[in-house]
Amino acid sequence: MRDTDATGDAEIYASQARSCIEGTPNAIGANTTLTLAQVGVLLPETTSIWVFIWLAMSLVVSTGRVLHYRHIRIVGIENYPADKALRELRALCLAAGCLWGAIPLAEIGGNITASTLAFSAFIVVGTTSTALTQNLSYAPANLLFMLPALPPMAVALFATGAWAAYIIGADIVLLVWLFTNQAFRNAGAYCERERLRLSALSLANSLGEANREIVAANARLGQLATHDVLTGLNNRASFNQELEQRIQALTGDGQGMALAIIDLDNFKVINDTQGHAAGDQALRKIANRFDAIRVGDQFLARLGGDEFAIIIPGPDALDVATALANSLVAKVGEPIEAGGHEPIVGASVGLALFPEHARSPNELFASADIALYEAKRRGKNRVAVFDIAMKRTLERQQRLESDIAIAISANQLGVVFQPQINLKTGDTVGHEALIRWSHPDLGNVAPPEIVAAAQNAYLDDRLTAYVLEKACDFLARLSAAGDNTSIVAINISPVEFRHSSPAQTVIDALSPRGMDPRRIEIEITEEAILDFNLAEADLSRLASIGARIAIDDFGAGYFSLASVSALPLHRLKIDRSFITGIDASPRHQLVVENILALARKLGVVAIAEGIETEAEAHTLRQLGCMEGQGYLFCRPVDAATALDRLTPKKAIASG
Ligand code: C2E
Ligand code: MG
Ligand code: MG
Repeated sequence: MRDTDATGDAEIYASQARSCIEGTPNAIGANTTLTLAQVGVLLPETTSIWVFIWLAMSLVVSTGRVLHYRHIRIVGIENYPADKALRELRALCLAAGCLWGAIPLAEIGGNITASTLAFSAFIVVGTTSTALTQNLSYAPANLLFMLPALPPMAVALFATGAWAAYIIGADIVLLVWLFTNQAFRNAGAYCERERLRLSALSLANSLGEANREIVAANARLGQLATHDVLTGLNNRASFNQELEQRIQALTGDGQGMALAIIDLDNFKVINDTQGHAAGDQALRKIANRFDAIRVGDQFLARLGGDEFAIIIPGPDALDVATALANSLVAKVGEPIEAGGHEPIVGASVGLALFPEHARSPNELFASADIALYEAKRRGKNRVAVFDIAMKRTLERQQRLESDIAIAISANQLGVVFQPQINLKTGDTVGHEALIRWSHPDLGNVAPPEIVAAAQNAYLDDRLTAYVLEKACDFLARLSAAGDNTSIVAINISPVEFRHSSPAQTVIDALSPRGMDPRRIEIEITEEAILDFNLAEADLSRLASIGARIAIDDFGAGYFSLASVSALPLHRLKIDRSFITGIDASPRHQLVVENILALARKLGVVAIAEGIETEAEAHTLRQLGCMEGQGYLFCRPVDAATALDRLTPKKAIASG
């Protein structure tokens, strides 16, 4: 019989077995004492051999119980199968019970008086009640001991016919009923207590488990808050904190640190051409490489995207950081297998020192960032160390970028015109429009700086529209002065083809004025032709509306003969570097001769830029160059001066 419910049945059963076994020594002790007492009661009346046989059998059973108990102890209560232990206990209890039952049934030789029987009844009731108190957990053991022992005693008492024996016999029957009830109640209460104990234990266990899970979840959250999910490196938040703490911890006296900010060059290409999964894979590999190079307490973090940072502590931080940065650049340059391809990326690194270049964490970061910007500007894939001139340059660039919008809309930019001359006749065949900016605080700004500022502020198309507007005004004034043939050239930077349509800008500027597109020439550099796919559609559109196209600074950059011949070209502008000193340089003469031959083959005009001396002009004429532009003839001048320069000639011509 098992007083358990379904949950924890096995545990409760095992606990019952344990409790029974633990009660065994007391039960055996009491049983043996009462066995001897029983023999003591019987001996004055009978010395029958059965008394001694009974005693011997009782001692055998008790010894069996002792040995059984010892065996279980040696094996270990926890290891002993509960089923087996209880089965064996039941058998031993039944054996002991049967022995007690044998006394009244056998009447031990038939010589026992009613009063001796009553004493025996007292002893057997005593021994069963002792058994009941020693085993509160398992009713079957009690019953198997009591049921063979007590009922025979009652029967024997009834059989004597004595009045007192009837009463005692009836009491024993009552006791059997009470003991049976009590045995079940004891076991029921025990099982209930056990069930409560077990559920409290399992609650405590699950609370412990939940607590462990909370601790683990907290640890994971902590990891997420301070680490980058993709690469496992420290993230920007922990980097900011670390930088601040490390700077605070510096005590002066020659202590310092360096900060390196690393930005991957052309990383976007991997994402664009091979997908984001390949990009992520490449980032993880690069992060691992950085981590492998980093040593000691150098702190590496991914700041986001393709930007990383390393804090390099130590008094000789500049040397260590420079060496580290160079090896980072070299490591990034090694091929990365990502997404089945082997993309090659580069890295630019900006270095700044504390306290030499900054007084606070923010300033240190800004200085390293300026150095990074400089590394990129110098051509990427290199290391640049911050210096104060860089900061001034950057501040100037930022100022120009923020002011250029106002300068354009407030008409503060100037456009000057440099005449282009027919070298044989001296006639002006066109003008090149060139941008000028006299900044109220910074003074004259060089045209390439103006163009860069417009590009960085994404205003390059507005700058082109501005120049075109002035060029159209100038053309209108030329026409008004009777010149209906000469052209005006404007410059368009290669970058402009990337995020806007110069053809559309030209159409938008010319259409409202009814200006003839054939009088506008667009100067592009070879760089624009390099990105031929990007520029081709726009250039063809310009050609289709009749605008002219010239290649500026020809020979100074890379050029592809295929794309040059594919373009609808009108002029090649020979770069000034070949013109300066051409009269004394056979090499320059050779280059120019070849460019002139190419121009003839392509059916386009060649114009020499930057002619400063009559000797240069003379040589160019001899080489067969038809057109030229340069200080020899005229510097870039404002529209009015350019017109004044023409008017007398036209006047003479017409007069
Ligand atoms: P570029 O298109 O090659 O323009 C010719 C440059 O050479 C002009 O410099 C001009 O002043 C200069 N130059 C002309 N003749 C001589 C000479 O005999 N000797 C010397 N030393 N220089 C001479 P500038 O005006 O400073 O422009 C420089 C560059 O800035 C231009 O080179 C052009 O690439 C760019 N740029 C100027 N204006 C604009 C513009 O409106 N838009 C764009 N996108 N770029 C412009
Ligand atoms: Mg030009
Ligand atoms: Mg040029």
